[in-house]
Amino acid sequence: MTSRTVDHLIIGAGFAGLCAAIKLDEDGEKDFAVLEAGSDVGGTWRDNTYPGATCDIPSQLYSFSFAPHDWPRSYSQQPDIQAYIQQVAAESGTLDRFVFDTPAQDASWDDEAQRWTVRTPHGDYVAKTLIVGAGGLSAPRMPEIDGIETFQGEVFHSARWNHDLDLSGKRVAVIGTGASAIQIVPELQKVLQATGGHLDVYQRTAPWVIPRNDRVYSSVERSALRRVPGLRKLYRAALYWGHEAFVPAFTLAPGLALPAVKQAQANIRKGIKDPELREKVTPHFMLGCKRVLRSNDWYPALAADNVELVTDPIAKVTGNAIVTADGVEREIDVLVVATGFWTTELPITEHVRGRSGQSLADRWRQSGMAAYKGTAIPDFPNLFMIVGPNTGQGHTSMIFIIESQVAYIRAALEHLRRHGLTSVEAEPRATDRWNRSLQRRMKRTVWTRGGCQSWYLDSHGRNTTLWPRTTADFRRRLASFDAEAYREVRA
Ligand code: NAP
Repeated sequence: MTSRTVDHLIIGAGFAGLCAAIKLDEDGEKDFAVLEAGSDVGGTWRDNTYPGATCDIPSQLYSFSFAPHDWPRSYSQQPDIQAYIQQVAAESGTLDRFVFDTPAQDASWDDEAQRWTVRTPHGDYVAKTLIVGAGGLSAPRMPEIDGIETFQGEVFHSARWNHDLDLSGKRVAVIGTGASAIQIVPELQKVLQATGGHLDVYQRTAPWVIPRNDRVYSSVERSALRRVPGLRKLYRAALYWGHEAFVPAFTLAPGLALPAVKQAQANIRKGIKDPELREKVTPHFMLGCKRVLRSNDWYPALAADNVELVTDPIAKVTGNAIVTADGVEREIDVLVVATGFWTTELPITEHVRGRSGQSLADRWRQSGMAAYKGTAIPDFPNLFMIVGPNTGQGHTSMIFIIESQVAYIRAALEHLRRHGLTSVEAEPRATDRWNRSLQRRMKRTVWTRGGCQSWYLDSHGRNTTLWPRTTADFRRRLASFDAEAYREVRA
């Protein structure tokens, strides 16, 4: 097996890995490689190609601050976002250092050599620093349902859509009513309606769904955004602060979400006339406890003649049907599971071993995911996570967080260079302090108090995924490298 040495190794070529690559390159840190398990850049936007895949954060905000784009509409569809990522990657001049179809199988820190060694099917990589941008929503989570493996028809996860399958006239079931399902269902409903097919939607928990004011930008607006100096920045800033205004409702006073509750209730009344169906789709937890969804066509799709919303719990799956707890069996040809991702037990952590030889997964098994500033972890020198523990957002663009973390990592690398250090490692005490304060704050949030189960919480009921303050606050806290919170090793 071959072995290649680089200064920096980045895992993942989604928004996070690409941002790190571009900024390292800008800093003159050109000796890096980006390992990517897939065959292209894009991460979640490469993988989620299901019908209707759209971003529910406005495009002008859901894009790099340093790579503005002439977006055609207010909320971008997956192909446009994927094309944007490909374009930014191509124009950045860094693609020559991306290594595709090469999953990082295992990473371990050699404290004597002060190096990371990462094993891949095509040889080892040895690097001073390891930047993990593998994504928080990248490992599909299949539901544990009795008999699902015996189903004889087609079954696939929303993030692994089978485009070869002709759904015309088929009987299809979708399990799940999260952000993915509410985009898939309206599209499937139309296709199946036109071809005499039928759709069953299996809902365990009714989500809160507010309208999405999506529209195509007029040519005048696009031209103004392109040409008027400062307008794009101003528009982006207005969107940013508009989204930040949601934070107090999530983190301090859920009562502030009342206008959104009213909007969501009106959305139900507008989309559904049948009182029984209205009742079934009405959520019974506080708005914001789970991710607030945005759609104009979810409720009309559920009300369509060729759709049945099933709220009885699923008892089992047989060779050709789903059986619910009330004993009803609904035959299907195709099963789509839109059941989300591994979020609090990230599969990659099983394969990353620190100074003591312990895996990140073992370290986190007892206490839950925790890092210093969502980025650095005691016992894992020179490892920097992007979109690490408690960096997630339910209300705004993750790209703002990614850029904040990449700036922090650049500052750490600058510190290493300037002081002739071989490694920095987050101190346990600083990490504990950070997480204690975070979890104290978390107790007041709607995610903990709102009366729901969600992918934000781990098996201990702790929210280890979301950031409980404003993103402006997050950026401020990561604005410079705080060496006092780190153990340093000198060459
Ligand atoms: P999700 O939000 O985790 O939703 C999973 C759905 O599957 C939930 O309705 C859940 O029900 C249901 N489910 C899970 N296991 C089940 C089981 N065994 N039996 C029955 N139902 C089951 O996953 P997602 O919709 O893929 O979205 C994940 C995240 O991806 C989102 O929250 C969002 O952050 C991101 N996303 C973003 C966009 C965007 O527009 N930006 C689009 C798609 C996804 P319960 O609610 O009862 O658990």
